[in-house]
Amino acid sequence: MIVNCSFLVRENFEFIEEGHLIIENGVIADIGDGFLSEGINAEEYIVMPGLINAHTHIGDSFAKEASLGLNASEAVGKNGIKWGLYKGVNEQVLLNSMRDSARYMLNSGITTFADFREFGVDGINQLKIAIDGVPIKAIILGRDLDTVDMDICDGLGLNLYQLDQIPGDFKGRGNKIIAIHAGEAEGEVKIALKHNPDIIVHFTNCTEEDIKIAADKGISVIVCPRSNVSLGVGFPPVKKLLGKGVNLAIGTDNVMINSPDMFREMEFLLKFSFLGDEIEAKEILKMATINAAKALRLNSGIIERDKAADLIFIDKNASNLRYNKNLIATIINRCQPENIRKVMVDGKFVMDKDIW
Ligand SMILES: [Zn+2]
Repeated sequence: MIVNCSFLVRENFEFIEEGHLIIENGVIADIGDGFLSEGINAEEYIVMPGLINAHTHIGDSFAKEASLGLNASEAVGKNGIKWGLYKGVNEQVLLNSMRDSARYMLNSGITTFADFREFGVDGINQLKIAIDGVPIKAIILGRDLDTVDMDICDGLGLNLYQLDQIPGDFKGRGNKIIAIHAGEAEGEVKIALKHNPDIIVHFTNCTEEDIKIAADKGISVIVCPRSNVSLGVGFPPVKKLLGKGVNLAIGTDNVMINSPDMFREMEFLLKFSFLGDEIEAKEILKMATINAAKALRLNSGIIERDKAADLIFIDKNASNLRYNKNLIATIINRCQPENIRKVMVDGKFVMDKDIW
């Protein structure tokens, strides 16, 4: 039992100043209020759900800033420089860089990431080798796979020119997730929607009708604001999507373009929103936790009974965080990897910068 911590519980991040969590078999068995003398004393920490980075390409970690100044097509399009860079990379460097990114994510409070992994079965195996022993959860969305190979991953992560890889019948999908990149250019979202994916990544250039269709079909959207701005494609219509009831999550996209740091992504989204349609800090934190869990079919992203105990412990007294007037906005705007002192995955501490 973890006692005397502050925590953000349930769907609306209700703040409990001093309480306890009972964790059994990797899940949250109970949540309680008030001081207790027995248990693991966590009075120094604010405990919240682990972050979920809902869209990455950690395979690009060996080429940070290689595409600086290029547009989306020049950087990551069908003939973008990304593919040439892969041809020249030493495999050990590729694996080491992917492993670095997985460790960086865990260290900065991300307990699950969902990766679009290119290069078929070989690409998936490389990712598995690279993160072997790093206790972060990975949702792997592959491509260029035979139906039989779908068993080695969690679904497909496709570009628009690969939609013929989606199994024709619904049964063929099984319980696999189908996710499609669309909306970096105009007209793309409409094409993706026709294929009834579970997830559309970006949705940046879209119409009111596209938003309505996504809402009606229950398609989740994952936005990548820093990536979109870096590649000059625009800014995702987050407020409109939320307004129509679309389930919305956030991803940091290619490591070539962005650090896989969800706090930086959330801060950017919050601050940029003040130029247009303001988004509440709480909505942004939901996008990085509970909404992402819904999109990826995870039993996590929330401190609630029977949910996986994927939790992060933030230093409550850190000099860059204390004396705040809006805790959630302070976490989004100011939290750094060093403020995440402990990470728990499935009820086990997997990272601890302050040994008890
Ligand atoms: Zn992407």
